[in-house]
Amino acid sequence: MNAVTEGRSAETPANTYRGRCFCGTVELSVSGEPAAMGYCHCESCRSWSAAPVNAFSLWKTDVVKVTRGADQIGTYQKTPRSLRKWCKACGGHLFTEHPHWGLTDVYAATIPAFPFKAGVHVNYQETRLHIHDGLPKLQDLPKEMGGTGVAIGE
Ligand SMILES: [Zn+2]
Ligand SMILES: [Zn+2]
Repeated sequence: MNAVTEGRSAETPANTYRGRCFCGTVELSVSGEPAAMGYCHCESCRSWSAAPVNAFSLWKTDVVKVTRGADQIGTYQKTPRSLRKWCKACGGHLFTEHPHWGLTDVYAATIPAFPFKAGVHVNYQETRLHIHDGLPKLQDLPKEMGGTGVAIGE
């Protein structure tokens, strides 16, 4: 059994990937293809995740389904643009809703069976961990997401 099939079940479509929090109280699934994947280097992501970068996968909000433990999900909203969700039982982080984009960032680590493939680094001007992988490094965000779209060096 490989990592991809492990995340699927018999009754869900082939492109559905299951995820869970650190303790397993909260389970979720995503279906189809994400709108974008990459790494965010912003201060908010670093502080919230307690990690030097956040591996994000952005999905249309309606394809992200909480399948177990919805009542155990806490929300923290520092700004109206990000509703950060975590499991109240273990403190494990799950996803962040971005209502103004109609997208939800499901952290790559939450859906381990999903074949995550980064396409871009965003908010690289705030980086604390330079990554030399040849992918585009945007100073902030793509133009279509409200940023400058300007690329900077690794
Ligand atoms: Zn948990
Ligand atoms: Zn960020």
